[in-house]
Amino acid sequence: MSKLYFIPGSQDLYGEECLKQVREDCQKMVDFFNEKLGDTITFELLPTVETSEICVEDMKKVMVDDDCVGVVTWMHTFSPAKMWIKGLQLLRKPLLHLHTQANEKLPYDEIDMDFMNLNQSAHGDREYGYILARMNIAHEVVAGYYQHQDVLDQIKKFAEVAKAIGLSHQMRVATFGNNMRDVAVTDGNRLEAEIKYGWEIKYWGIGEIADLAAEVTDAEVDAKIEEYTSKYTMDTDNLEAVREQAKYELAFEKFLETNKCHAFTDNFQDLHGLKQLPGIAAQNIMAKGVGFGPEGDYKIAAFSAVLMKMAEGREGATGFIEDYTYDLTPGSELELAAHMLEVPASFAATKPKIQVHPLGIGGKADPARLVFDSVTGDGIQVTLVDMGDHFRIICADIELVKVPQPMPKLPVAQIMYRHKPNFQIGTAAWCYAGGAHHSVVSTALTRKDIAMFARLTGTELITIGDDTTEADLQKFFTK
Ligand code: MN
Repeated sequence: MSKLYFIPGSQDLYGEECLKQVREDCQKMVDFFNEKLGDTITFELLPTVETSEICVEDMKKVMVDDDCVGVVTWMHTFSPAKMWIKGLQLLRKPLLHLHTQANEKLPYDEIDMDFMNLNQSAHGDREYGYILARMNIAHEVVAGYYQHQDVLDQIKKFAEVAKAIGLSHQMRVATFGNNMRDVAVTDGNRLEAEIKYGWEIKYWGIGEIADLAAEVTDAEVDAKIEEYTSKYTMDTDNLEAVREQAKYELAFEKFLETNKCHAFTDNFQDLHGLKQLPGIAAQNIMAKGVGFGPEGDYKIAAFSAVLMKMAEGREGATGFIEDYTYDLTPGSELELAAHMLEVPASFAATKPKIQVHPLGIGGKADPARLVFDSVTGDGIQVTLVDMGDHFRIICADIELVKVPQPMPKLPVAQIMYRHKPNFQIGTAAWCYAGGAHHSVVSTALTRKDIAMFARLTGTELITIGDDTTEADLQKFFTK
């Protein structure tokens, strides 16, 4: 179970009585968070920072504990912030500055200077906020009484984003084959991705998967087919093609587990030893939270795994998608997004059908894939691109809609959505921003989650939505 350490701040000027009360109030707060947010994360109280030495010891503990994904800090009293400098210099995990109080209301009848000295986060949290800003430490601030639902909701979001960043720092992407020949946006600086986000981008030949697939037993394939038929409707007589995909999925699963990878890529230009492009194999694995990027897109493979982790436990779907084609009917413009095959089963609103059809690209055998109608409702589309000297996240609010008419000749899973604030501004903004054609679409995450991720990882963020205007296109994208 992931945990957040709770580190309160005070000082030793106020005497034992005051520090004892600080401790009791903090334990009460931690117990309350564990009761309310225990399904998401565990909270554990560390010694109150009264000196620089204690702060250093607390932060050392944070950094060596693999279960710890972040820190919550709060200044119950005034806590001179020079005491925090050396400790904060050790911290390399997400930080939440909780600006709260032990008491909701002021006790107007009884308030005296003792109460003021004990409960002065309005004072202490400003001193602390200054040193965070002065040291340029990425962090999130949540303000309000800790028992209020909106404050709890924000702490929960922080925990989810911190867990996602925790996964990001363990991320290992298996890239089978290289980046698709000549494609720009899927390429970039792998070294910088590892330095900034912790993503180990490791290359293997697709022959590794071909060999593992050849060793898969009939019994293993039978069990995988049983998994498919328990979740999906078999809508083909070509069972051999489906069994072939089952072998690929088993091979990918074994490989990823052995090599401790959380995401992978393939490339239809490099399928030596495979008869088909992985279709249902990729679709089914993605639905289990494993990141995937086609055409060697290691960035979207890693980023999709991180965002699926962030969305864990929430209602809604999150997964990889590719922008494809538009309906440009004035006033009711829509986008049809899909991929050659690899649309995650998580998007399914209807029970997916397993079908086998020819693929007009790649020159391989007809691949088995899942075909389904997709979820609808408010969502976001997010991508991460390499701008040469920095990474940029682009996050657009979208509305996923039902397909207006059946598409009987398109045997591939797909989603359809409406851009915001409208087609012209929404898609122009995406183009100005250099947004990729590979992205993650989610009906579980919001712009706020992505903004928090961007803030905590120090990544440039461009958002697009109902608040984007034509003037923004000039303002945001003209140097
Ligand atoms: Mn693609």
